Parts: sequence; C-alpha cells; structure tokens
Amino acid sequence: MLVDNHQRKINYLRLAVTDRCNLRCNYCMPAEGIDFVKNDRLLTIDELSRLSAILVSLGIDKIRITGGEPFVRKDLMQLIRQLSNMKGLNDISITTNATLIGPYIDKLKSLGIKNINVSLDAIDKDTFERITRRDQYDTVHNNLLRLITEGFNVRINFIALEHQNTQDILPVLELAKHYKVSVRFLEEMPFNGGSKSFQKIKWDYKHILAHIKSAYPDYYRLPSPKTSTSINYKIPGFKGTFGVIPSFSRTFCGSCNRLRISATGDVITCLYAKASHNLRDIMRATGSGEKIKEQVLLAVGNRAKTGFEAQEKYKSVFSNSMTSIGG
Ligand code: SAM
Repeated sequence: MLVDNHQRKINYLRLAVTDRCNLRCNYCMPAEGIDFVKNDRLLTIDELSRLSAILVSLGIDKIRITGGEPFVRKDLMQLIRQLSNMKGLNDISITTNATLIGPYIDKLKSLGIKNINVSLDAIDKDTFERITRRDQYDTVHNNLLRLITEGFNVRINFIALEHQNTQDILPVLELAKHYKVSVRFLEEMPFNGGSKSFQKIKWDYKHILAHIKSAYPDYYRLPSPKTSTSINYKIPGFKGTFGVIPSFSRTFCGSCNRLRISATGDVITCLYAKASHNLRDIMRATGSGEKIKEQVLLAVGNRAKTGFEAQEKYKSVFSNSMTSIGG
C-alpha cells in the first residue's frame, strides 16, 4: 500500500500520455501552444504500461488516462488494452476533450472502459470556439451524446471562467436535466502556460453554487466518497447530478489520494508542486523496477500537506501549463 508522509493512502494515478493537444483553450495555454516536448522524451506505450504495472504493484488500483489530449496519441488503444488486462487495476478512466474519441467508442466499450470525463466549457458554439480557439464544437457535442447514449458513465467538466462562459453555467446544467450525466463546475487554476496573469478568481465554488441556487433553490447535497474532489448535488426532477470542484480553493487536500505521472515520466505529488523525480530516465538507464519503486516511495514520502503548502514551496509553479501536468 502506498501511504504518504501525512498518512494518506495513495491509490489513484493520473497518467498523462502526451503533452500535446489539438485544442488551444485560452485558460490552459497561449494561442501558439507551449514548448511541446520531442517525441523521444515521451514515455513509450511499453514504458507507460510497465510503469503502471509497477505502481499497481505498490497499491494503485485506479488509473485515469489524461494529457494533453490522450487521443492525439495514435497508439493509445494499445495502452488501454494492456491496462485492461492488468490484475489489481480496478478502474481505468479517461479524461478527454472528445474531439477525437469517436472512432474508438465501440472498442473502449468492449474493453470495459466505463468512466469518461469530457471537458466542455461552453454550450454555446461561439463561446466554445472563442475559448478553445478551434472549430470543433459539433464533433464534441456529437461524441458527448454518443458516449451518453452508449451507456458510459460520463462526467462533464466545465471550468468557470470570468467574462467568458459563466452565462453558460445554467444552460450546460440542463444536460443533467435530460441525461444521466454529472455536470461538474471547476474553479480556474493558475496553470495556463503564461497565457494570462492570475491572482484570484471571482467564480469560486461558493459563487458558482450561489448562481445555481438562484435558479434551482431546491438542490440538495449528495453523499460523496471521502476522497472525492467534487461536492455533489441533485436538483429534484433532474436525471443527472451536478458538482463543484474547489480546485483553486483547495478544500479537499486532507483526503487527497492522487499521484500524477507526466507524459515525460515526472512524478508530481500535488498539482501545486513541482516534479521531484523523473522515472523515464531511471527506466531507460537501469531498467530496474526496484529503483523506480524507490523513487516513487521517496516522492510519496515527501508530499506537501496541502496545495497551499506546495505553492509556498514551489513559487514558480504557476508558469506551468495544465497540458504538461496532465490536468
Ligand atoms: N485534453 C483532455 C481534456 O481536455 O480533458 C485532458 C487534459 S486537460 C489538461 C485536463 C483538464 O484540465 C481539462 O478539463 C481542462 O479543462 C483542465 N484545465 C486546463 N487548464 C486549466 C486551468 N488553468 N484551470 C483549471 N482547469 C484547467
């Protein structure tokens, strides 16, 4: 079992498979993108699979595949196939912008993948295109509806962005009225690759909740797992649910069970921390599983207690982009 220096059990790995993305969301990176890494610095599928097996042997039982955009990687399904056969791994989930997932939906279903998070920051097409800087709304919308009707457990992640998409909060929530989905509203975080300055947010989870309350005063709170980052609610009469994720307010650090591995093999123990160890170099230099375990244990044994503590220690962390960290 992986336990950190604050006695938190770590069983959830967020595994980034690339830092590249086919969208250019303005709160994530500049229009020209970031300095994406060269292909030979990305973990190969075999390395990703081997690393996952080592982490599963240490106690990870849930892996979320993220990026960059995971489906930008043409060999992604090979990894998912290998993970789906991994003993001890109980849950494989994917976070995607849903632009490229269409051709893989049947295969994902046959491999037993159930949980898919779709990032969607607008229900209005023009707003979507302004934020993502790409003309992909129809594809995303179609794929989202296909995922829902095919029976995947779909969660929609919507980042509340002041002056950009808050007029879409109530309209996007309508999706939960008609479909069995969870619409989750996230606070914006400072990891935008330097595309804009960032001090504080107006649309924190309390503000989002007050806004929803003005339209739906009868919503009520649902029980959530202890390690959940989202606080979940139900509106009477709605098929689905909604949630808020205080990712900038950081109210959930006390029960954090997550570890992140970037697409280049960096171990990241907190979104607000800098990577302390790189597993790709060790894997390529020695091939030793034991050495990799050692580094993971070192990183996990030296975790900040909260995102605020991490931010204090690693002041320059705000220059990162979420596309490199893995979201
Ligand atoms: N491409 C995939 C996707 O769109 O879901 C996975 C990677 S993306 C970096 C993961 C998540 O990070 C997305 O939901 C995205 O909206 C979120 N994200 C990116 N930059 C963010 C920021 N500055 N603040 C909050 N969330 C951010």
